Amino acid sequence: MFVSSSFMAFVYILTSVLFILSIRGLSSPKTARKANLLGIFAMFLVLAVTFFSPDMKDFVWPLIVLFLGAILGSYMAIKVKMTALPQMVALFNGLGGLSAVFIALSEILHHQNTPIETSLGMIIGALAFSGSMIAFAKLQGLISPKALGFKYLHSLNLILAVVLIGVCVAFCLNKNLSLFYALAALSLILGFLLVLPIGGANMPVIISVLNAYSGWAAVGIGFSLNNVLLIIVGAIVGASGAILSYIMVKAMNRSLWHVMSGGMNEKKESGSQNVANHNQTAKVGSPEDAAFIMENSSKVIIVPGYGMAVAQAQHVLRTMAKDLAEKFGVEVKFAIHPVAGRMPGHMNVLLAEANVDYEDVFEMDAINHEFETADVAFVIGANDVTNPLAKTDASSPIFGMPVLEVGKAKTVFFVKRSLNSGYSGVDNPLFYADNTLMLYGDAKQVTEQIVSVLEQK
Ligand code: NDP
Repeated sequence: MFVSSSFMAFVYILTSVLFILSIRGLSSPKTARKANLLGIFAMFLVLAVTFFSPDMKDFVWPLIVLFLGAILGSYMAIKVKMTALPQMVALFNGLGGLSAVFIALSEILHHQNTPIETSLGMIIGALAFSGSMIAFAKLQGLISPKALGFKYLHSLNLILAVVLIGVCVAFCLNKNLSLFYALAALSLILGFLLVLPIGGANMPVIISVLNAYSGWAAVGIGFSLNNVLLIIVGAIVGASGAILSYIMVKAMNRSLWHVMSGGMNEKKESGSQNVANHNQTAKVGSPEDAAFIMENSSKVIIVPGYGMAVAQAQHVLRTMAKDLAEKFGVEVKFAIHPVAGRMPGHMNVLLAEANVDYEDVFEMDAINHEFETADVAFVIGANDVTNPLAKTDASSPIFGMPVLEVGKAKTVFFVKRSLNSGYSGVDNPLFYADNTLMLYGDAKQVTEQIVSVLEQK
């Protein structure tokens, strides 16, 4: 039993609207859960109707692939640790790109009607795939997260891009299959070489750029398949990825061209990054000190970072904030840096999961001026996002990135396990500042100890 093409068109329009509403709902933590369900429902609807479309020639293989994909995807989503979500996002972006490559190949082998759209979809898909695999390897720690490369890498990339355009034009003119394969290989190599030199602080941007790539690849493929839904949904993903990239580069004081062109001006991550003076000693505090100083404060600003996610300290952190506010009348606020953690919104998601009130959570620009009136900055598992060298050391890979000015608080606590640097490999001179006390240990355990002291009073 098949559905009519006009019914298909109706479902496509309906699901497009649902996808747009879903993306809109994802922009606020309050509506994000419902929006996610809406997106899942729309995807289910479109898959179901596709199975009854007149174009459906074979049911068995699509069902097998769908079933296996659903099992694997669900398993990964259930098993993945919150801290490994960025890698998973990179992996899924890459798989989106890879499917564009395969669909393009199938189109070229069977129809060859739309070589321009198909080759564009394939090129962007291949760039997204190989670029995402490098991003995945960097985030997973399989290769160094630092900028990697060699002397003439950017010149090579430029030459490859020019050759790629030439091969693409040649393919569109004479539809020679060998040229299509050459195009695929060149795009894969270029994606690989573009992301390789991106390191340190620019990773967050490249993840959202790759996300946008996978959307634009779907648009190209949508045109070649003449599938309106794919064009609309691809454009939504492409545009929202591009907007997110813009927001991230603005937050990090980078230029989008700089990142998109493969870190053309990436600072060399050597030499000057180890500027912190290891002859200086960092002062060490205890959970009892922290509890005493915070309960006697008027204002405490909590700055969470990647280490809080690793330790899963968000729940006990919320208890600490609640105790300070309710038992001791302290004003407690949370300050979130746009690239804290390992993916956009990482900290917001974790704090929302722990039911921290949205009203107490502030973005960097809204709270940075408050550190000078705060008694305590409680920095938990954050490092790069507080590093003042981003302002003063022009040779540092994080130079130019705005940071949370925690050093202006009367007392700064750093909860972390050592004096080690963060993701970008840059030492943090704040550890040695006069008003800093290090609270060494796992973020969750240290906060639990502070809470137990607070609750005994
Ligand atoms: P950082 O990576 O700068 O620092 C995290 C700190 O957490 C480390 O120095 C580590 O110190 C500490 N830590 C790790 N595990 C624990 C634990 N169990 N308990 C306590 N502390 C722990 O994180 P930030 O959030 O400050 O900054 C994010 C960085 O990641 C930025 O450089 C950003 O550019 C980059 N990035 C961000 C992405 C995003 O989209 N948000 C994506 C990719 C990269 P120690 O080992 O001493 O415990």
